[in-house]
Amino acid sequence: MSMKYLSTRGGCSGQGFEEVLLTGLAPDGGLFVPEELPRLSTADLREMRDLPYAELAWRITSLFASGAFPEDELRRMIESSYAGFAHPEIAPLTALDDGEHVLELFHGPTLAFKDFALQVLGRMLDHVLRQKGKRALILGATSGDTGSAALEGCRHSSQVDICILHPQGKVSEVQRKQMTTVAGENIFNLAVEGNFDDCQRLVKAAFADQSFLPAGRQLVAVNSINWARIVMQIVYYVHAGLRLGAPENPVSFSVPTGNFGDVYAGYLAREMGLPIERLIVATNENDILHRFIGGNDYSISALRHTFSPSMDILVSSNFERYLFDLFGRDSEALAQFMAAGAAGGAKLSDSRWRDMREVFDSASADDATTCATIAEVWRDHGVLLDPHTAVGVRAARDCGRDLQVPMICLATAHPAKFSEAVAAAGLQAPELPGRLQRQFQRPERYRVVENDLAALTAILGGLAV
Ligand SMILES: *Cc1c(COP(=O)(O)O)cnc(C)c1O
Repeated sequence: MSMKYLSTRGGCSGQGFEEVLLTGLAPDGGLFVPEELPRLSTADLREMRDLPYAELAWRITSLFASGAFPEDELRRMIESSYAGFAHPEIAPLTALDDGEHVLELFHGPTLAFKDFALQVLGRMLDHVLRQKGKRALILGATSGDTGSAALEGCRHSSQVDICILHPQGKVSEVQRKQMTTVAGENIFNLAVEGNFDDCQRLVKAAFADQSFLPAGRQLVAVNSINWARIVMQIVYYVHAGLRLGAPENPVSFSVPTGNFGDVYAGYLAREMGLPIERLIVATNENDILHRFIGGNDYSISALRHTFSPSMDILVSSNFERYLFDLFGRDSEALAQFMAAGAAGGAKLSDSRWRDMREVFDSASADDATTCATIAEVWRDHGVLLDPHTAVGVRAARDCGRDLQVPMICLATAHPAKFSEAVAAAGLQAPELPGRLQRQFQRPERYRVVENDLAALTAILGGLAV
């Protein structure tokens, strides 16, 4: 039996993995979730304990994607995705102290955890499109890590062209080069004469009216609501949990959070049966989720730019998936809550709020605290954290915990990617890994485009032939 998906807004159900993979937002404006979540028994988990990473990833992914791919094909895609990681353990753990651990998710080609999902997603899209005899154009806007991870994930795809917009002059040099030096005939970078919001607006408008594309072509989004990305992120929770005592003993995780994709995958691992005592939602000064989990206040505030740019987000797109469960899968109640949130502020009943706090705790750190944490962990343990990871470690410490339960802090990026924060912490920025230094020798390829929809669609229409 292959798994079926329904929309959180109640207007769409019975979708297969392929449709969900290609669709992004559901037609009713909701997000796709499985009609029923697979469960892992204690015996299942025990049996998975010693599996190599890629094997575990295959087992877990096939629970969600069976039917969409021949099993050996799925296995091959996953193995080749993780074969490109620079560490043999794929997601190694480093112990700090007192049962505090750092889960290194930055050994992929772009040095951030998004590679875990996007490497596989590029291969999955390629397979599904080949089966349908179609090509697609992936279009996205980025201010940070997603663009480069998506480009790297798609550069071997024969059925996919990919075009990523970034605001000209408004991304760091490392981030720009990570995108513009990716080689591939199907890779296109556009520098928009505008800011990140302009880029996002252009992308949205292009998705809304795709008539500029040749017949039979479609745009595909690989943003953080893409369901396949969530699935691939469940795996490292299970892998790390099993390494540190599960299923017999519980573990906790602290997760630097932006769009809530990563920590939602942790929630799914818990629902599936991994004994997770607590999930800590760690935010920077863009702290709507901390205000909500800590104080039942779901209200949007102004965007702040911080040292952890991948978490500079006003509304976390994947949070709706969790709220859908919290509201007992009642689409009506969810829609009311989201509308109230958008209109100024929303609150849960006390009993629902307590239900949420059974699973999640939260804390927030500003830039000064983030830098102090980078310095402190370096001094005490000789481990250099990137600013996103430092927000997570700080949050874990601020929330306090049962010392019997290991605390696993997700390290979402390599510190060399965010050297500004490392320097602000008074430390010497580490060198970029050799693989990236070599990539940066290649010529940069990008085109500048006016902040104008007609200018953009003229270029896109020309790419997709
Ligand atoms: C994307 C990203 C995050 C936030 O992850 P979400 O799934 O959006 O919550 C955190 N850290 C880094 C380095 C990232 O690239």
